Amino acid sequence: MINLTTGPVKITDEVMAALNAPAISHRSAAFMHTFKQVEQELCAQLQVKQAYVLTGSGTLANDAMLVQVKQTGKKGLILVNGEFGERLKMQASRLGVQYNCLEKNWGDRFSMDEIRAAIIHHQAKWVLLCHCETSTGQIIMLEALSTLCQSLDVAVYLDCMSTFGTMPINLKNVAMATASTAKAIGMVAGLALVFSNTTVLPAGNMPVYLDLYHYLQYNGVPFTISSSLVNGLLSALDIQKQQVAWHNVKTNAYLIFERLHPAGVIPFANANTLIFTLVLNKRFAFDLGRMLECNGISTSFESYYLMERNWLQIALFSTCGEADILKLLDLIRHYLSKNR
Ligand SMILES: *Cc1c(COP(=O)(O)O)cnc(C)c1O
Repeated sequence: MINLTTGPVKITDEVMAALNAPAISHRSAAFMHTFKQVEQELCAQLQVKQAYVLTGSGTLANDAMLVQVKQTGKKGLILVNGEFGERLKMQASRLGVQYNCLEKNWGDRFSMDEIRAAIIHHQAKWVLLCHCETSTGQIIMLEALSTLCQSLDVAVYLDCMSTFGTMPINLKNVAMATASTAKAIGMVAGLALVFSNTTVLPAGNMPVYLDLYHYLQYNGVPFTISSSLVNGLLSALDIQKQQVAWHNVKTNAYLIFERLHPAGVIPFANANTLIFTLVLNKRFAFDLGRMLECNGISTSFESYYLMERNWLQIALFSTCGEADILKLLDLIRHYLSKNR
């Protein structure tokens, strides 16, 4: 099976072996050695001062980051143009974070001018957004955004779930960011990651599981954590650095997928896209997904927000070759020509 889904992604034999190593106590010196290696590797790869590894899915990482946003006591701006921006907004509301929103239709892009105007209008002290809005594949230009926010003295909080592992990311000028092991780094789900360049604030008024200050006080490991998952993560981070050939495929992806542009089915795609969203006007994303599956290619089409819209997504999260993508495009074009 060729895996072109947003997850679960392909697991290499090396990572599988690391996951299969006998479990050890999260209190043992051997475990702490691995844990500290993971922290160091994350800090080095993403250029941050501190990394937190929590047991949970990506949503937990966003909750923990939002608790820190709340503890600043300042009001900010949340950017929403898709499912995951909506979720950030919902999580912020539940935590009682003070915010305004800059909202656009799903798939519409934010310009730096719009963001600047909204920050100034709302006197925002921070912005929170998805680096890649997974539901449409839209990626924000991080360098331009951090330059803008630095000039306005505004802190950036970034959800990097679907860019972590797809591209080199430099978070040097970002206050905090989040990721998870379930997306593009070739690992199983189960660990939530928070990256920080700011001093974390005590959050004694919040559930302890969400309090990064508490994690810091206990050397990163206040509670039970699976040594297997941490071991697997270390292996995945190591492999990440070796995938040069795969990097080339991703760099050329848009040139390949552009062949679908005349059919008008990838409206949100641009040169940076690594998650291609097929918008199937009056055609059936579910049927296409099933047909591809029968031909040995798995894609994403069963999330409720995709089914609702008749969308199918092709994510370049798991390694594959250019030939695999060409095979996929042939199948899609054939399907489209038969289902006009
Ligand atoms: C996957 C994802 C999340 C987190 O989802 P979980 O199901 O909790 O892992 C958050 N934000 C974005 C942009 C995502 O792609």
